[in-house]
Parts: sequence; structure tokens; C-alpha cells
Amino acid sequence: MKKGFIRINRDLCKGCGLCIAACPKGGIRISDKLNIRGYYPAEYIEKEKSKKRKCTGCALCAIICPDIAIEVFRD
Ligand code: SF4
Ligand code: SF4
Repeated sequence: MKKGFIRINRDLCKGCGLCIAACPKGGIRISDKLNIRGYYPAEYIEKEKSKKRKCTGCALCAIICPDIAIEVFRD
């Protein structure tokens, strides 16, 4: 299985949750800390370099994000 990871720009995010619904691996959640725009942004749950990562780098989260807040990396 391919591995990947994502980075979310928390200050571009408006917390709409679309990426959370789109991720087939359950890899994203809403943060409990506000961003500079006053939203609770999405955050990536896994450690970027963990071998136990479930993220496949499928990019569904990035494609659906209306604010282009997610970057996807593949190993
Ligand atoms: S790239 Fe795919 S598996 Fe990884 S966090 Fe985004 S939707 Fe989930
Ligand atoms: S889809 Fe984009 S704007 Fe919406 S919660 Fe996810 S990262 Fe934030």
C-alpha cells in the first residue's frame, strides 16, 4: 500500500469539515484550537514520518478543499 502524508495550512482553513468526510482513512479531525481567522481548523492526526500511517496520499482531501489549504506528499 502506498504511503503519504498531508500538511494543512491551519490559517487558510475555515473548518468546513469537507476533508474529514472525504478521507477514507479517518486521518483528519477538527482542532480544539482556533486559528487566526477565528475558525477551528482541520488537523492531520498522524505523525508525518510514522510507519503506522494510514494515509495513502490519495489526495481526496486536498481536491475537495475549497480553500486549497492541504498539501499532499507521497513517499
Ligand atoms: S491524502 Fe487521502 S488518505 Fe491521506 S489524509 Fe488525505 S484523504 Fe486521507
Ligand atoms: S476542506 Fe479545507 S477548509 Fe474545509 S476543513 Fe478541510 S482543510 Fe479546512
